[in-house]
Amino acid sequence: MPRVFSGIQPTGDPHIGNYFGAMKNYVRLGEEYGKNSIYCVVDLHAPTNPNAYDPRQLAARTLEMAVANMAAGLDPEKVIFFAQSHVPEHTELAWLFTVITPVGELERMTQYKDKAQKLESTPAGLLMYPVLQAADILLYKADTVPVGEDQVQHIELTREIARKFNHQFGEMFPEPRAVLAKDALRIPGVDGQGKMSKSKGNTIGILEPLDSIWQKLRPAPTDPARVRRTDPGDPDKCLIGDYHKLFSDLPTIETVYEGCRTAGIGCVDCKKMLMVGITRELTPIQERAAELRADPVRVRDVLAQGAKEARQIAAPVMEEAREKVGFLK
Ligand code: SF4
Repeated sequence: MPRVFSGIQPTGDPHIGNYFGAMKNYVRLGEEYGKNSIYCVVDLHAPTNPNAYDPRQLAARTLEMAVANMAAGLDPEKVIFFAQSHVPEHTELAWLFTVITPVGELERMTQYKDKAQKLESTPAGLLMYPVLQAADILLYKADTVPVGEDQVQHIELTREIARKFNHQFGEMFPEPRAVLAKDALRIPGVDGQGKMSKSKGNTIGILEPLDSIWQKLRPAPTDPARVRRTDPGDPDKCLIGDYHKLFSDLPTIETVYEGCRTAGIGCVDCKKMLMVGITRELTPIQERAAELRADPVRVRDVLAQGAKEARQIAAPVMEEAREKVGFLK
């Protein structure tokens, strides 16, 4: 059976791009592969980018990301779900990979180049980020990695590291494949300026209060052809049309598409209809999140149990790696 691994950034409030592109996928894969699907809040990665990291917030954000995923349907009874820093084998394996990874390969990584150019001084950890990511995946001998498009280059490097290790020390690791979360690529930001992303500030959070979501949707740009209420438009050229495909039921989508093309409905009506779908989808998630937030001990217990389960896989793999590299027992 395939083994799935995915790392979840502890960024706090996930947005609907994360939800449709990754989180729902985790739930689906969890149903399919059970304890062979391994999800981890990758808190060790957070301090590698000083621009996006605050030590006073890391623990809270890690917990909040756990809450969000559990509220969105990730069932820790079915999958393995934990915080990366609770399983020390991640950093140990990363060190072994560091010694076989050429610096030139790491310097080629697009994400590294993007982040490094915004920093006055580049921490070595930022360069090593993809090595730790390779260790995250290969520590569980995972062969399937659901990722966004921006991570594909890192998964390629993971494959290369696995090949190198196997060649140098003996066959041990599979070469994992990236499974692209295609929906995530198409979800536009609420400002209409390209992909939804936290750094652009154009997100709709899945745990965001519904009235705050409406305050963002009401002024959101629509098809520019609809200058007047009587002008027909094209919902395929409108981000609200895209959102309807995510949140609304089929009859509503048909009504909206027909109404937009014939100027039978106005954009405000259309946005109100979208809010019905958003409310239906997000209300139960927000209610579950409120319950979980009220019981942080339960969430910590879930992560502690997940770390125990993760280590049952990680410890023997690490033992095998130590042996292959030749350390004294
Ligand atoms: Fe967009 Fe809806 Fe207005 Fe059409 S009616 S342009 S889909 S907001």
